[in-house]
Amino acid sequence: MSGQMPILILKEGTKREQGKDAQRGNIEAAKAIADSIRTTLGPKGMDKMLVDSIGDIVISNDGATILKEMDVDHPIAKMIVEVAKSQDSSVGDGTTTAVILAGEFLKQAETLLEQGVHSTVIANGYRLAINEAKKIMEASSKSASDDKTLRNIATTALAGKNTGSSYDFLADLVVKAVDAVAEVRNNKITVDYTNIKVDKKNGGSVSDTQFIEGLIIDKERVHPKMPVVVKGAKIALIDSALEIKKTEIEAKVQITDPSKIQDFLGQESETFKSMVEKIRKSGANVVLAQKGIEDLAQHYLAKDGIYAVRRVKKSDMEKLAKATGAKIVTNLDDLSKESLGKAEKVEEKKIGDDRMTFITGCANPKAVNILIRGATDHVVSEIERSLNDAIRVVSLTKEDGKYLYGGGAIESEISLRIRAYANTVGGREQLAIDAFAKALEVIPRTLAENAGMDPINTLIKLKAEHEKGKQSAGISVGENSVGDMSAAGIFDPMRVKKHALESAMEVAIMILRIDDVVASKKSGASESPGGGMGGMGGMGGMPPY
Ligand code: ADP
Ligand code: MG
Repeated sequence: MSGQMPILILKEGTKREQGKDAQRGNIEAAKAIADSIRTTLGPKGMDKMLVDSIGDIVISNDGATILKEMDVDHPIAKMIVEVAKSQDSSVGDGTTTAVILAGEFLKQAETLLEQGVHSTVIANGYRLAINEAKKIMEASSKSASDDKTLRNIATTALAGKNTGSSYDFLADLVVKAVDAVAEVRNNKITVDYTNIKVDKKNGGSVSDTQFIEGLIIDKERVHPKMPVVVKGAKIALIDSALEIKKTEIEAKVQITDPSKIQDFLGQESETFKSMVEKIRKSGANVVLAQKGIEDLAQHYLAKDGIYAVRRVKKSDMEKLAKATGAKIVTNLDDLSKESLGKAEKVEEKKIGDDRMTFITGCANPKAVNILIRGATDHVVSEIERSLNDAIRVVSLTKEDGKYLYGGGAIESEISLRIRAYANTVGGREQLAIDAFAKALEVIPRTLAENAGMDPINTLIKLKAEHEKGKQSAGISVGENSVGDMSAAGIFDPMRVKKHALESAMEVAIMILRIDDVVASKKSGASESPGGGMGGMGGMGGMPPY
């Protein structure tokens, strides 16, 4: 075929990387993302401060949050960010772990590629290894879902974040909340964690964070003459405005005769009076309105001793409906005794500088609220993220009752047993299975590094313990040594660990299989010159490999 002109199928100048270059470039990008969040892993992990172009900042230790906020350009890096997002949305924790593992699977694969092992062989070996790893996880898992275990699960999840010294206190709140919403359905415990509402309010200290059996709305009553407390509340949820409909086009009302002003105002007043009358007649003593309530309506409501709140968030309205058994009503004519919800008490309370409405003793007790307090915006936001993680992991464990030893213990155990398994496989796949075993050590190693421990000595000690059969040996961050995770109560839910391993592996294999990176047309973009680069958007930022 020599001498023939090469056939050009791509426009001249199209950016393209092939074969080893493409593979190497992709692996570097994945490793770079993993490296960027490595230092946040575990209880001694550091925080990242993300500053956007207008100077807004987010301070976080949460892998998913950091990666979401990071301005990532490289297409492969974006795939890794997706792993964090999927881990976060499916199990709520273990995002940093998943990303670090993905980076390490690729790093170990890179060494094999350099030795001439084909990526298909690596992928096969990795697949064999992960199947074995899942069996080892099942066999090593512990079963319990009592409150003490759940508190340990919560504390471990919170410790991974930056919640200061309040882990135990917060863990307790989380377990209480999950216990309150857990239900038995078809002889199985199910937890709908969305029944746990989490709100935050600046001010006070973290120890002022409270658990409420009921719901709170971040709104005060609309009129000072309304009662502060309503016992035996009958609640109307209204999603239309208690206002007179404004005409679409701005209208000018011309009143020529002064005596007509009274008539005009009188009409308006009558309208509001009849609106409030409809509410009163239904038997409601509390009105929670999604839209506005005009002054005159407020006045009549107050006169009737009705507690009213306006501009309640739509999501809160839905939660209130579920909790109190009320029907959300659009037309006041539809308001009846049957459409009202019930709660033992509706009360306005002062929290910090603001007043909030507390709805407790709801008809359906499976609705609870946690109100986070803390000195600053950044503090309450980070606690919110941590609590959400903890709520998810405690819910999972309450349902499954299965957990594993944390602090790198399970990863060390899998690593040890996978090495033994590799010997039984042989061939080139054995190399990949060994690489998988080695990759798992990144978790205990990073935990040790982040705690300022010597990673090499610590890992040697940890391996020795596991070889002796001590499955619960892990990184004891507090004592700066290898310790017993069972005694320390450092537990991670089985589902979180399994998901992290699986999604890390999936993305690693997907990236390994790519040997050609071609700038493609942006979907829908025109054929204009240079348009070919569109689809790769970020390729410009790709380092030259
Ligand atoms: P991720 O986003 O992966 O959840 P984290 O920063 O939350 O990352 O760290 C989780 C890791 O930290 C888990 O491996 C967990 O077992 C470990 N860990 C949490 N608390 C401790 C502790 N007190 N001692 C040792 N390891 C811990
Ligand atoms: Mg975590």
